[in-house]
Amino acid sequence: MRRYREAEYENRGTRTRKRKRKQAMQRKILGFCMFTFLLGVLCGRIVFAKNPEERPAQAEAEDIGQTEYGRNNQEPSEAEETAGDYASAGEEAGDEEAWKLVLVNKWNPMENGYKPAVAEIENNYYFDARAVGYLQEMLAAGRREGLDFWVCSAYRTIEKQTDLFEDKVRRVTAETGLTGEAAREKAGTEVALPGTSEHNLGLAVDIVARDYQILDEKQARTEEARWLEENCWKYGFILRYPTDKTEETGIIFEPWHYRYVGEKAAKEIMERGICLEEYLGVTGSSL
Ligand SMILES: [Zn+2]
Repeated sequence: MRRYREAEYENRGTRTRKRKRKQAMQRKILGFCMFTFLLGVLCGRIVFAKNPEERPAQAEAEDIGQTEYGRNNQEPSEAEETAGDYASAGEEAGDEEAWKLVLVNKWNPMENGYKPAVAEIENNYYFDARAVGYLQEMLAAGRREGLDFWVCSAYRTIEKQTDLFEDKVRRVTAETGLTGEAAREKAGTEVALPGTSEHNLGLAVDIVARDYQILDEKQARTEEARWLEENCWKYGFILRYPTDKTEETGIIFEPWHYRYVGEKAAKEIMERGICLEEYLGVTGSSL
């Protein structure tokens, strides 16, 4: 009996030691797990924090653009996160409005490498994220009055603009026999050189009537175009290339092309019947 008890005690002792070893092991495992978890969280936070900068946002944004009259099928998932250099330049200069009045024409190319932060207007068309809300409001207001707007071009990347331009040069050569600089010059009268189109800036949009989608002067006679010309300023937009300002703007009359400049400038420009170059006091070819 005694031996049995001793044996029992001994067994108990063994069990206690085993239990203690087991507990110690469990504590070690738990400790290791916690350490691993904390390490994971720490690394995760670093990775998450670094992620927005590391993502190839700009590369993806480059793919956003439309064919001249067609729709864009690209997925601009990260486009909203690209930086706006003009915005920061404006803020540095103490002028938060500067980005709205940036002049881009054939005499004033866009700042090299500039890429606006954009957001979707509708149907996979994109616009400067700071102004897209005003554009959507304008479209909605007209539609409430029964108008049937169709956005047929908006933000275009430099790469897209380059494709459009080179395509035009090829067509000019095929149609007229012109080559080299002569072909490029002729092409430039109809398709803006990369970096000189407001569509590259992200502040221009082409809007037509859904039942008349041709980009010619007859567009001006549609109900949609008439409404836009009359009401655009309320939303900060101007008819950018009026019929009588071709010399100042360098662009033929485009009743479909609207540019965001902010309400104050838009009101004055539309009321006075002037163009952006005149408003800014920099008339095109004199530069
Ligand atoms: Zn346009």
